[in-house]
Order: sequence, then C-alpha cells, then structure tokens
Amino acid sequence: MLLQGTVVADAETVVEDGAVVVEGNEIVAVGDREELVETYPDRERKEYDLLAPGVVGGHVHSVQSLGRGIADDTSLLDWLFDYVLPMEAGLDAEGMRIAAELGYLELLESGVTTAIDHLSVRHADEAFEAAGELGVRARMGKVLMDTESPDGLLEDTQAGLDETERLIREYHDTRGGRIQYAVTPRFAVSCTEECLRGCRELADAYDGVRIHTHASENRDEVATVEERTGRRNIHWLDEVGLTGEDVVLAHCIWTDESEREVLAETGTHVTYCPSSNMKLASGIAPVMDYAERGINVALGNDGPPCNNTLDPFTEMRQASLLQKVEHLDPTTTPAELVFEMATRNGAKAAGFEDVGRLRPGWKADVVGLTTDLTRATPLHDVFSHLVFSAHGDDVEFTMVDGNVVYEDGELRTGDADAIRRRAREYDLPIAAD
Ligand SMILES: [Zn+2]
Repeated sequence: MLLQGTVVADAETVVEDGAVVVEGNEIVAVGDREELVETYPDRERKEYDLLAPGVVGGHVHSVQSLGRGIADDTSLLDWLFDYVLPMEAGLDAEGMRIAAELGYLELLESGVTTAIDHLSVRHADEAFEAAGELGVRARMGKVLMDTESPDGLLEDTQAGLDETERLIREYHDTRGGRIQYAVTPRFAVSCTEECLRGCRELADAYDGVRIHTHASENRDEVATVEERTGRRNIHWLDEVGLTGEDVVLAHCIWTDESEREVLAETGTHVTYCPSSNMKLASGIAPVMDYAERGINVALGNDGPPCNNTLDPFTEMRQASLLQKVEHLDPTTTPAELVFEMATRNGAKAAGFEDVGRLRPGWKADVVGLTTDLTRATPLHDVFSHLVFSAHGDDVEFTMVDGNVVYEDGELRTGDADAIRRRAREYDLPIAAD
C-alpha cells in the first residue's frame, strides 16, 4: 500500500507532498510522493492530509471503559475504593470483554495504535482476546492485589502470581509480537512485599516481559507506603525490584531528589497523565525535570473514569499547557517534545524498538488525519496543529502492524455499533450518584 500526504515521520521530520510505502507489517519507504509513486507504481494508493506515526497510549485502563462518568469530582482514594474498584470487582467476564472492546475501539478510532494497558484482577483473558481481535498493539497485563483491597479483587499472593504466569505463557509475544505481557501490580499500597518481589521474578523468568504499575500519584499513597515500609515509594519499589529499563511507572508526581536519581540511574520509564492528574487533583508531574535527567517520559490518558476521554490529541495539548502554567514559562514543553512523548517515547516504554516513527524497516503503525477543518485553517505548523488543535475525530485512517483497522469512520476488525450497543445495555454493578 502507498499512503500519500504530508508525512510527519517523527518529531523532527516533515515531508510535504510525501508518501509512506507499506509491505506486510513493515514500512519499506518514506519520502517524496512522486519518486515513490514511480518506484512503486502498482501499489494500492490512499491519500490523507497528514500521515503520522500511530500514537502510543503510555498508560490506560481499557477495562474501566464502562465507568466513564461514575465518579467525577472525587478524591483519588475515594474515587478508587468507593467507585472504580467496586466496579471492577463486579464485572463478570462478559462485562470485562465489553469494556475492553469499547476501550480499544475508542483508542483505534482516535489514532492510538499501541497501548500500555493496566487490566483488572480477574478475566484478563477477555482483554487479551479483544486486543488480539480488534488489532491494537499492546503491552498489557492482569492486575495483582493481595492486601488492602476490596472483596472481589483481593487475591491470595501465590494465586495472583500463578495466574500471571499462566497468562504470560498463553499471551506473551503472540499475534506476531503485537501482544506483549506486562506484570501489573496495582500499586505498592495494595501489594505485599512478597507479591512485588514475585512480580520481578516473573518478569526476569520470561524474555521480553515487562513490569507496569502506578507510583507516587498521590500524597496519601506515598505516606501509606512510607508508614508501612519506612521508605519513600520509589526507594521501596527499587528495593523490591520494581525499577529498571523494563519498568514503566505511571504518574511519579510526588518524588523527591533522591527518588528522581533512582529513576534516572535505573532507566525506569515514567508515564505522564496530565488530564487524570488534573481531574483527580493529584498534582503536576515534574516531567521536564525528568526529561533533563534523561528519564524517558511517555504520555497516557489513564482510564475513562478519570479523564474522561481516551483522545490522545487532547492529552498532548494538556501535557504542554499544564507544564507551561506550572513553570509560568510559555516556552517549556514545546509541541515537538510532546509529540515525541506521545509516539516514540511511549513505544520505548512499551518495549517496541521499531515503533513510534515512520521510517523504513519499522513497523507499519500509521494514522491518517484530515486537516480540512476550520480549526486547521490556515495550517502554519503541523506539530502545532497536532498538539494544540487536533482531535481524535480528525483521524480517518488507522493502520496497526500493516493492517487497516479503522477507515472512513468504520472499524474494520469488528462491529463498532454492536460494541457500543452491548456497552449501553450492560448492567454495570455500580452506577453514578
Ligand atoms: Zn491508572
């Protein structure tokens, strides 16, 4: 296939009147449209105003998708323990499947091609099957919770680790490598030391498995961990093996100097979730400080109950604006940097080495967007447009691993109307107040 348009190949490279040629699941050429049409004359051609790498959602909860709007305007720990965890505890296998499909549908139709997905304690198979079938690229895993957790989610330590190992054997590195496993403890508050150390052992035992958890999102969380362990949260995670180049920590808002040094020294990845952090009034992650220290910062929407949208373009906008107001500096966190966070940095965190840029030999994860819009007129700068004014609705074409998964308003890998209908009809175990 030959895709034509203005090609935003990465955060530094734009090819006007360009093209991307895809063979199988790989990009084979990126460059001038006329030259590539001449070199590849027989390819099926499609044209979009902008072609860009698929966006990487660096932290998402697809299986919370049925809970959008059930817990607005509440504090993090109330939000979690009074609403979101009871909802997760009450979802049966069918509910988990519907929620996951709804989440992946929203991601794919708004231009996200890769997700780092934090599932729930039970019925993880449903999400793995849904991701496999709908075609998203994912680093995902079942959640572990073996202390300080509500009924329906609290699990025996060994049972959680055993179930994780079963899922690794069943789903890790499947669908041609598109689906990868992340061992996913919820957070240090709801996991024992034995559980956290067990997570590290499992990640080490299976080649390519990573670890994904929440860390230092909230001051109460940090205080609880410190009371229990005598350590700052990141020091505790480091002690039990949950830092390193194969670890992605969502949030990392409340970290001190010594914790930041640990994150940098160990090569731990951090996912910045500005909308969720604003909505739950959690705080502002020091992501520019992290970036200056060489810490890889990805960008994530978090879950539908705390955002309440999985639109990655809105998230890019928030990512920049929040840092500008934090630093009272309009020059900080420019559009190109945010675009890099949302694409290549996310792919690095997810452990996909050839994803997040449009270049020959890399995976064919490509989105096509329209700019035939009032708010894109005139279009002076594509990065400015993508970060500050584009919406997920502008996406007209989504390709993952060389497969067209969304095109012209239609999901190609499933029945979007049926997914939305089943989500509306499902009897959610908890309702909004
Ligand atoms: Zn989260």
